Amino acid sequence: MPVECRYKTVLAGIGPIDLREKQMERIERDFFAREKDDQDAFLSQTWCNECMEADLGMVEPQEYEMDGVVVVEGKCAKCGSAILTEIADDDTDGEWEDDQ
Ligand SMILES: [Zn+2]
Repeated sequence: MPVECRYKTVLAGIGPIDLREKQMERIERDFFAREKDDQDAFLSQTWCNECMEADLGMVEPQEYEMDGVVVVEGKCAKCGSAILTEIADDDTDGEWEDDQ
């Protein structure tokens, strides 16, 4: 069996969650290239799992794309725990319009 076929067979046998972990490819993006308003919004509209509280703020933001999802990763401004904010990118906005 060709290597490529065997590779696909192996992937097919793995659940979606495993596949996601195996293929986690991180594409760095520049958070600070965004509009100032966007930056402020992303840095203030947060959720911290440790504090169990919203909008505590984020420091040291890093933006990247992973598995087609753009996220901003940073630290909770209150407790310093890692927090993650998913960004609804322009690419996905179009799909939502179908619901209207
Ligand atoms: Zn916190």
